[in-house]
Amino acid sequence: MTEKQLIDKERFADIEYNLSVIRERIAAAAEKNGRRPEDVQLMAVTKTVAPEYINHAIACGIDLIGENKVQEYLGKKPFLTPCEAHLIGHLQTNKVRQIVGEVSMIQSVDSVRLAKEIGKRSLMAGVTTEVLAEINVGGEESKSGIEWDAAPEIIDEISQIEGIKLRGLMSIPPICENSAEVRRFFSKMSRLFVDIQSKKLDNSINILSMGMSSDYEDAILEGATLVRVGSSIFGRRIY
Ligand SMILES: *Cc1c(COP(=O)(O)O)cnc(C)c1O
Repeated sequence: MTEKQLIDKERFADIEYNLSVIRERIAAAAEKNGRRPEDVQLMAVTKTVAPEYINHAIACGIDLIGENKVQEYLGKKPFLTPCEAHLIGHLQTNKVRQIVGEVSMIQSVDSVRLAKEIGKRSLMAGVTTEVLAEINVGGEESKSGIEWDAAPEIIDEISQIEGIKLRGLMSIPPICENSAEVRRFFSKMSRLFVDIQSKKLDNSINILSMGMSSDYEDAILEGATLVRVGSSIFGRRIY
C-alpha cells in the first residue's frame, strides 16, 4: 500500500467509528428527552472534506450532508454519491441563482430579501426550495441570522413568500463556557419554534436545526430535530 492508501484506510475506519459513537449518543439523548432515536436527524457537515471521505460517510449510512459554500459544494457535487444536501452557510443574494435546484433545503435564510430572491429564482426554475429561518439567538454582532426581537414578524413574512416553503428554524448559539449556558440558548430556540408551529395549522414546520460537534446532545435534550455534525465525524478541520 502507498502512504496515501494507508492514511485513507485509517481515516475511513475513523469515520465509521465516529459515526457509530455519534449515533449512540444521539439515540441516548433522544430517549432521555422522551423521543425516539429516529426523531433526530443527523447531518454530516462536509465543508473542507474531500469527496472520497464524504462518500465513505454516505456508505456508512449518512443520508444528509451540509455544505457552507455554494462554490465548494458545486465543485464537489459531481464526485459525490447521490445524497440529500442542504446549504447551511451564509448565502449572498448574488449566489442564489446558482444554488437553487442544487440542494433540497437552504437552512441559512436570514432576511426577507434573501428569502424573496430564493423564491423568485425557485419559481423561475420550476422548483420549490425548502428553507429554515436562521436566528441569531445570542444577539452577536459578528454572526448572521435574524435578530431575536424581530424574528416572529420576519418569519411570518418569509412563510408567505411564493416559491419557498418554510420548514423551521436554524441557529448557532454563541460559544459557551458550559452545558448549562448553551442549553439556555437552545431552550430559547425551542420556545420560539413551538410558538411558530402553533401559528401554523398544517404540520409543515417541523425542523429545529441546532447542535454541532461540541453540543449536539445538549441541543437534542432541548428539542433539536436535526443536528449538524462536522469535525466529530471527519476530524478537525485544517484551513
Ligand atoms: C461547520 C458548521 C457545523 C459543524 O461544526 P462542527 O463543530 O465541526 O461539528 C454546523 N453548522 C454550521 C452552520 C457550520 O458552519
